[in-house]
Amino acid sequence: MAGNRISLAPGLYFLATPIGTARDITLRALDILASAEVLFAEDTRSLRKLMDIHGIALDGRRVFSYHDHSKPADRARVLEALEAGKSVAYASEAGTPLVADPGYQLARAAIEGGHNVISAPGPSAVLAALTVSGLATDRFFFAGFPPNSTSARQKFLSEMSVIPGTLIFYESPKRVHGLLDDLVQTFGGQRSGVVARELTKKFEEVLRGALTDLVSELQGRNLKGEIVVLVERASGNGDPAEREKDMRRELEKALETMSVKDAASVVSEALNLPRRKVYQAALELSK
Ligand code: SAM
Repeated sequence: MAGNRISLAPGLYFLATPIGTARDITLRALDILASAEVLFAEDTRSLRKLMDIHGIALDGRRVFSYHDHSKPADRARVLEALEAGKSVAYASEAGTPLVADPGYQLARAAIEGGHNVISAPGPSAVLAALTVSGLATDRFFFAGFPPNSTSARQKFLSEMSVIPGTLIFYESPKRVHGLLDDLVQTFGGQRSGVVARELTKKFEEVLRGALTDLVSELQGRNLKGEIVVLVERASGNGDPAEREKDMRRELEKALETMSVKDAASVVSEALNLPRRKVYQAALELSK
């Protein structure tokens, strides 16, 4: 299946590409790759290789490089093509552009210029990991890559603790141990977590368990490849004793910077608990 040559309306097409297995690409993305008049990629070699695997000829087209830190002239080249009424395809190195990947500045510039911006949706590690995690999917928060330094990461994680949904982080294998340690510190070791590694690839591995168990299981392991870390939302397991503990922990943190009233309101919202009950607990804790 090499992709059909189709007539494309002018505009900027953001293409999702595989996060591992090359065949995880949509038929429409192949059609767009076969048909777009101008091709841009975060990594031109990866895109050419993907096109090769799927038998899509360049037919005289060049693949230009673009990432959000490119020189202004590179963005201007994309915009010039759009202004000339061309169909322009853009792919990041893997997965969905703009998701912890370049494309945001480009999307804004194209929208401001009044051009069509079109998505050809497909793989993204966030959703692949959420799907296999076994954690709640009704509400989730994609937090991207946490900061590298421990102090900045701990501050960043404590801001996440009031978010009422499954938390999803991208992390490098070098830093995943540090992240898990800080997650235990911030959320408590009993909160469930998931480490999803090398999804859709040969060495795919999904570890699920209490955060503290994940830390022990991974101790001494030199992890390789690409990793997504997920954390269950506060009180996700519905156990009343755990909910009570979560409430007290969140209130203690909130009371460091907020009034009793504000802390109670933020925590009752985050944990989906009755405001009166949380307010009473906040009053006691503040004494
Ligand atoms: N735009 C991509 C997307 O839609 O998922 C993400 C690009 S970001 C630069 C790369 C990060 O995504 C990796 O460090 C890892 O956290 C995650 N990731 C990408 N592919 C993955 C895979 N096959 N398995 C697990 N995590 C993956």
